[in-house]
Amino acid sequence: MAGDGGGKRRNADGGSDGSARSVRALHRLEPGSSFLLSEFGPASTPGIDDEDRARDEIPETVSALAELQERLWVEGRRSLLVVLQGMDTSGKGGTVEHVFQGLNPAGVDVTSFKQPTPEERRHHFLWRIRRRLPAPGTIMIFDRSHYEDVLVVRVERLVPDDVWSKRYAEIRRFERQVAARGTTILKFFLAISYDEQRERLLARLEDPLKRWKFREGDLETRARWPEYVAAYEDAIRACSTDVAPWYVIPADHKWYRNWAVARIVLETLREMDPRIPIPDLDVAELERRLAPPN
Ligand code: AMP
Ligand code: MG
Repeated sequence: MAGDGGGKRRNADGGSDGSARSVRALHRLEPGSSFLLSEFGPASTPGIDDEDRARDEIPETVSALAELQERLWVEGRRSLLVVLQGMDTSGKGGTVEHVFQGLNPAGVDVTSFKQPTPEERRHHFLWRIRRRLPAPGTIMIFDRSHYEDVLVVRVERLVPDDVWSKRYAEIRRFERQVAARGTTILKFFLAISYDEQRERLLARLEDPLKRWKFREGDLETRARWPEYVAAYEDAIRACSTDVAPWYVIPADHKWYRNWAVARIVLETLREMDPRIPIPDLDVAELERRLAPPN
């Protein structure tokens, strides 16, 4: 696959939020800009080139995340929705494991969206999504999402063109409503190369303990790679908005993927700046009442 990124790339020292290095600015797809996966380097590491340093930074980043998560939880008003999309083997599950492992399980949840159940199929495509939005104070991670309804559904021709093509506008409207209700939305596309997918599928076959992840259908999906690329490009272009931008993460290197996603979540929670309320209590009086009897 081609070089290390399109013209939208900024250098790692020039973050738009004033920080020394905004990893968000580096990977965010600006609304209205063009996006071609063929110009994107899935093996690039634009935010940090030193693998050892990246690996060292991940635990620090995760503990900073945990502290901010606690504040979000205590504040109890706003929430965070993290959407993970990517081809098979792109590392959606691995990202959940490595980036969100240190958080308090009481305040974080994961939903994996599979083929719709018969009940889900009887409803609008956003029905099952709305039911899993994060409650105030919590973080929800979507492993696949409503985007499947313009990706697999389009490529596998599960509905007519005039049905899925109207969904981009619906998704934009939906995400705007979600954001307006106090949910910050982060959408990650984990971009792997065709060759890297082959390696990972082979690894699943070779390791008996990973073989359960291999489905023969994954090979039919892989055979439609160019169609999935086109569907992803259209979806990402059409639905990268100010309130819910897409972040395109080079994911051939797992360490880079984990580093970049963790940093982007951290930058986002820092910007949200959740506050622990300080109740106006008469501390001296309460301490007096807690004093042991004499
Ligand atoms: P996995 O993520 O490997 O567990 O696979 C889940 C499967 O469900 C994938 O093949 C998805 O494409 C499929 N899937 C998820 N959402 C939908 C949907 N809305 N319509 C059809 N298939 C879906
Ligand atoms: Mg799978």
